[in-house]
Amino acid sequence: MADASKSLGYHPFQAPSSNASEVYTNFEGQTLGACEYCGHCERFGCEANAKASPNVCILPALLADSKFELRTHAQVKELVYDKAARKVTAVRYVDTRSGEEYEQPAGIVLLTSYVFGNVQHMLLAGIGEPYDHATGKGVVGKNYAYQFEAGANAFFEDKELNPYWGSAGMGTVIDDFNGESFDHGGLGFFGGGYIMGNTAGAPPIAGRTVPHGTPEWGSEWKRATVKWYYHAARFNTQGSVYANRDNYMDLDPTYKDALGRPLIRLTYNPPDNEFKMSAYLLQKLEGVIKAMNPTHYDMHPRPKTFTVVPYQSTHNTGGTMMGADPKGSVVNRYLQAWDAHNLFVQGASVFPQQHGYNPTGTVGALALIGIAGHQENNELGIVARCRKRERDAIHDRHADVGEEKIEASALTLQHVERFATVTGSLDVVTNHGQPARAHRAQCLFVFGDQNFGHQRDPA
Ligand SMILES: Cc1cc2nc3c(=O)[nH]c(=O)nc-3n(C[C@H](O)[C@H](O)[C@H](O)COP(=O)(O)OP(=O)(O)OC[C@H]3O[C@@H](n4cnc5c(N)ncnc54)[C@H](O)[C@@H]3O)c2cc1C
Ligand code: SF4
Repeated sequence: MADASKSLGYHPFQAPSSNASEVYTNFEGQTLGACEYCGHCERFGCEANAKASPNVCILPALLADSKFELRTHAQVKELVYDKAARKVTAVRYVDTRSGEEYEQPAGIVLLTSYVFGNVQHMLLAGIGEPYDHATGKGVVGKNYAYQFEAGANAFFEDKELNPYWGSAGMGTVIDDFNGESFDHGGLGFFGGGYIMGNTAGAPPIAGRTVPHGTPEWGSEWKRATVKWYYHAARFNTQGSVYANRDNYMDLDPTYKDALGRPLIRLTYNPPDNEFKMSAYLLQKLEGVIKAMNPTHYDMHPRPKTFTVVPYQSTHNTGGTMMGADPKGSVVNRYLQAWDAHNLFVQGASVFPQQHGYNPTGTVGALALIGIAGHQENNELGIVARCRKRERDAIHDRHADVGEEKIEASALTLQHVERFATVTGSLDVVTNHGQPARAHRAQCLFVFGDQNFGHQRDPA
């Protein structure tokens, strides 16, 4: 794929991923094993402790701290909200083994229950004004978006592609058609996305890629599976989605969860802009696939009507979006709820828009900014690259703004560095104090030496 992309003038690179390629001891003293490219990475635990997941990178260190307590099987039922004091005073949770309910008083509450849980908890507790689709008023549940995916399969009769091994993020990416990286003149859409070919492994059932038109059952399907198992390659495009007033989350009037709480309800269909953007990415991908000279290929455009049935990605965003104005957002830039000063919301629910990248790097960076935020009193626009020599260079570059501000930034950088070490990422770029570029700052979170966006123009 890299050669084919280069032949078309694109700039392919190896996808960044959070697997340790060799034994590695992180900032917390936790040792990750070396990845074995076992082919069972996505959706499974790691037998080699090579994935940069919390159970390997941070939990053992926390458990050794006497101030930390981990309560498993605790399902949070509700936030106890004192509206007059604009404060969450406690969290009620259920021990799922005994069914017993507990109330845990709290000074500070971090709401980290993924996009849908975050919105559900805010709506149930009555924190912030719920979005009303009919009037357009309110904020909680608004701005829902879902990274826009479409892909292709290609079959190479004469090439053995060893699909049984690989790690989830292993692949080649082209980022030439993301965000502002290309000229949109005459294209008729905004936004963009990336194109990827990866070898994530081929788990039983899910890893049996056959050409379109093959029966889904029976001996013909078996023959096709045997014929193509070693020779099939999968490609994907994932792009941005702009928030739209018709796409939102609210509490379901009918259906309830096991704890008797209304389920979160999703109302979503991407606007035409995203279909045009996706068609453009697919056209570029098709060009790359043709240049690879396959025996056969199938393009998979996104169905016009959204369905949750096939797994697409877990890249949901919005619902408790961050912003500078309480009228248009749910949390401030430090992820602090406008209507509950001791509540901090973490996760992609705080994204105001769905940028054209996978969310988790940005989620991590934002969590860090949220935590470090109260220590940072500066409005200094700063591009921070987390290698020590570059940190020193930042000090030099901003020497004229005063030592106090530099120290404040350095403090934040320590957190950023710590995070970068924990997750295995090496470069993090933040862009504080430049709200006009907030979206861009999200895109500037990069892993390893790989570039997921605008690193070429970090300023
Ligand atoms: C198969 C798969 C592949 C993915 N690949 C990528 C990728 O390549 N790149 C990428 O950027 N992202 C990827 N994602 C998305 C990524 O996993 C999420 O963006 C990320 O985990 C979100 O982090 P979070 O902390 O907001 O939520 P989560 O990681 O979902 O953590 C939320 C936690 O809250 C707990 N919780 C929820 N409700 C309650 C409650 N009521 N009480 C107590 N606990 C609760 C949950 O058990 C969970 O542990 C992938 C996801 C999946 C499933
Ligand atoms: S491919 Fe994934 S699950 Fe397998 S060893 Fe590597 S990190 Fe672990």
